[in-house]
Amino acid sequence: MAERRLQRVCVFCGSQAGTRPAYVQAAEALGELLAASGIGIVYGGGRVGLMGALAESALAVGGEVVGVIPRGLLEREVGHPRLTQLEVVDSMHQRKARMAELADGFIALPGGFGTLEELLEALTWCQLGIQAKPCGLLNVEGYFDGLKLQLERGVEDGLLRPLHASLLLIDTDVERLLERLETMPLPALRRWLAPAQT
Ligand code: AMP
Repeated sequence: MAERRLQRVCVFCGSQAGTRPAYVQAAEALGELLAASGIGIVYGGGRVGLMGALAESALAVGGEVVGVIPRGLLEREVGHPRLTQLEVVDSMHQRKARMAELADGFIALPGGFGTLEELLEALTWCQLGIQAKPCGLLNVEGYFDGLKLQLERGVEDGLLRPLHASLLLIDTDVERLLERLETMPLPALRRWLAPAQT
C-alpha cells in the first residue's frame, strides 16, 4: 500500500538531449507515467533537451506541468511557451527553493552539472531534515553507475552515513522507481543532526 500519495514530483534532467536515444525515451516515459498517474510535474521550465522532452510528453497526454525558471534563462528564450504554469523567479537559488516547495518528491534523469547539483542539494536538505521528501534517480543505461560508486565510497570511507545514502532510491525502471518513491518509509531525521545519530 502506498505510504504517501505524491501530488507533484520535481524532475531534474539535462538541458541537453544527450547522444543516446534511451535518454529522451526515459524522459518521455517519465512524463507520460506521471501524467497518467495524475501526478503533476515541477521542473526547470526549459523547452530544450531532456527537459523539453519531459514537458512535451506530459502535456501531450493532458498532464500538469509547472516550470520555474530564472528571468535570465527565460530571456535567453529557452523557456517553454505552453506549460500549465510558468513561474519566473530572480535567481537560481530561488528557483530551487520554489521547485522544492511545490513538489513532494524528486526524480533525477540523466543530465549534467545542473541536474547533479539540483539532486544533491535536494538530498542535502533531506539529510539535514530541512525537508522530508523521497528522492529517486533513474539510472538509464548505467549513466549514474559512477555516481553510485562515488556514494558507496563515501559510505565506506565514513564521509556519508548509510542512513543518508539510503535517502536516494536508484532504479532502472521508471514505474518501479515511482512505486518505490510512494512506498519507501522516510527515515525520521532530526533537523540539524546530532553527531550520535547514524
Ligand atoms: P544540466 O544538467 O547542466 O543540463 O542542467 C539541467 C538542470 O539545470 C535542469 O534541471 C534545470 O533546472 C537547469 N537548467 C539548465 N539549463 C537550463 C535551461 N536552458 N533552461 C531551463 N533550465 C535549465
